[in-house]
Amino acid sequence: MKRISIVGGGQSGLQLGIGLLQKGYEVRIIQDRTGAQIAEGRVMSSQCQFDAALQLERDLGINFWEEDCPPVEGISFSVPNPEGPGKVIDWAARLDSKAQSIDQRVKMPRWIAEFERLGGKMEIATADIAALEREAKSADLVIVASGKGEVGKLFERDADRSPFAAPQRALALTYVHGMTPRPEHSAVNFNLIPGVGEYFVFPALTLSGPCEIMVFEGIPEGPMDCWADVTGPAGHLARSKQILDTFLPWEAARCQKIELTDGNGILAGRFPPTVRKPVGTLPSGAKVLGLGDAVCLNDPITGQGANNAAKAAAVYLEAIFARGERPFDEAWMRATFETFWSYAQWVVRWTNMMLLPPPPFVLELMGSAQGLPDLARRIANGFDDPRDFFPWFADPAAAGDYLTSLKAA
Ligand SMILES: Cc1cc2nc3c(=O)[nH]c(=O)nc-3n(C[C@H](O)[C@H](O)[C@H](O)COP(=O)(O)OP(=O)(O)OC[C@H]3O[C@@H](n4cnc5c(N)ncnc54)[C@H](O)[C@@H]3O)c2cc1C
Repeated sequence: MKRISIVGGGQSGLQLGIGLLQKGYEVRIIQDRTGAQIAEGRVMSSQCQFDAALQLERDLGINFWEEDCPPVEGISFSVPNPEGPGKVIDWAARLDSKAQSIDQRVKMPRWIAEFERLGGKMEIATADIAALEREAKSADLVIVASGKGEVGKLFERDADRSPFAAPQRALALTYVHGMTPRPEHSAVNFNLIPGVGEYFVFPALTLSGPCEIMVFEGIPEGPMDCWADVTGPAGHLARSKQILDTFLPWEAARCQKIELTDGNGILAGRFPPTVRKPVGTLPSGAKVLGLGDAVCLNDPITGQGANNAAKAAAVYLEAIFARGERPFDEAWMRATFETFWSYAQWVVRWTNMMLLPPPPFVLELMGSAQGLPDLARRIANGFDDPRDFFPWFADPAAAGDYLTSLKAA
């Protein structure tokens, strides 16, 4: 049976590794932290996954938190009134199927245990180029699923697919207990503050049980790009509340009793969204294939990275299996990534659009959803499959035609 080596045991590497073991492959993962170190470390993501990505985990039987994780039942969208109190846009719609967010500090240690239970070999080390060369000599295929790790720089940036050279948002996460639930149904509450950034919040499962994850997306050098002088977890929580008090009083009202889930339930950082060429060449000439964030890194503004990583892992699993005994050559590697890209290009395009000031026709769509429940429902469910946003979310004429047809109906 073929031997596959994977560098990086995160969402994509572990999902793929477990899927390959279930099909009888010999799999080795090189991962830089043990499960215990991940559990004791800092939060990494807000990792909200929608139904199609969750289904891939159900298919592999690794949805261990289905019952314990609070559901995300909808999406709400608000824009504060720039001239006074209240909101100029305010709507909510239900998702057709629930979304869920499981803290990666909970998920990855459990998946590592499952990977080892199935007979996978886990090596705890930080893989460098020399390690990749070693793997390339002994394995039939080497996959690099190292997320934002340095080793991923071996893949050349694809300038045609990467419109931004610099970070587009100052990011922060705050994991809390004690938030007042939103009425009606749970949701990703998405708030867009023009010229300032975005704030979204939703229920999740963390080490200490159900929680809410607050995500801040500040436009660089704007008033929400305000984390550099914050010291310590208490300071981070205070700054989170201060932002809501300043810009989003209805969200601040939900936060009167919040406290951090734990001292590691905070994060601040930034990175440029980057798509890379999927095949890397080692000094020896050996080829390796990139997977997940290593080659397709999105800003979290649309909550798509872990969804993409899961979908990419599923595409790669199927392509590896379909390859049978034939070699995993460079042409196969490129074709495998392009199969994923035929989906991911729409996710990347939509996500990058959301990082730019919304053009008037997008504002009209988002505002019209308040009086058009079918439109609100379609926007909400687009998070599960962003291909559905095209062409009407990207083209003024298509948006106009769509709105006319909705109003006529
Ligand atoms: C603030 C923030 C919020 C987010 N919110 C969401 C969201 O709501 N929904 C969503 O879908 N996505 C979200 N994401 C993105 C999501 O977390 C990632 O896209 C996803 O985890 C990527 O999976 P991956 O397998 O590619 O990489 P990762 O999950 O990052 O895994 C990579 C692994 O490789 C290891 N590694 C790195 N280098 C090496 C090396 N040299 N040797 C060995 N191991 C190595 C790392 O330690 C890590 O364990 C968010 C991201 C951020 C930063």
